[in-house]
Amino acid sequence: TIGMIALDVHGNLSGACTTSGMAFKMHGRVGDSPIIGAGLYVDNEVGAATATGHGEEVIRTVGSHLVVELMRQGRTPQQACEEAVRRIVKFIEKREKTLTHTQVGFIALNKAGDYGAYCIHSGFSFAKYDRQGNELIKGKSYLN
Ligand code: ASP
Repeated sequence: TIGMIALDVHGNLSGACTTSGMAFKMHGRVGDSPIIGAGLYVDNEVGAATATGHGEEVIRTVGSHLVVELMRQGRTPQQACEEAVRRIVKFIEKREKTLTHTQVGFIALNKAGDYGAYCIHSGFSFAKYDRQGNELIKGKSYLN
């Protein structure tokens, strides 16, 4: 998934995401990206979030909406991404012995311009653009 979330000079949030889906997906599969609340959610009063990785897990938790709601409750974008990933990990661990086969990551941004990112497995980077320019940031992860 390519997910983008932005805060403009007037303080308005926006977001978009696009994906080719998963490799070898079943015909007719719908991933998280086209489902608002799962792959992307923006609430201009609170924040924006978008997801990447195994969409089935993101849909089950309505992941991007969850991240935004956690920010509404006072979490920073980083804390919100971490809590959403931990919740997904808990779901996976109920069914599977290992997290090896599943990757999910979120990025989030709030009205103040604070941002965060978190994923299950390492190797997840995201780009930030602001007045200082572009920066490629290595996201933190649940597993190293
Ligand atoms: N989230 C997408 C899907 O499940 C896959 C991706 O990260 O591109 O369809």
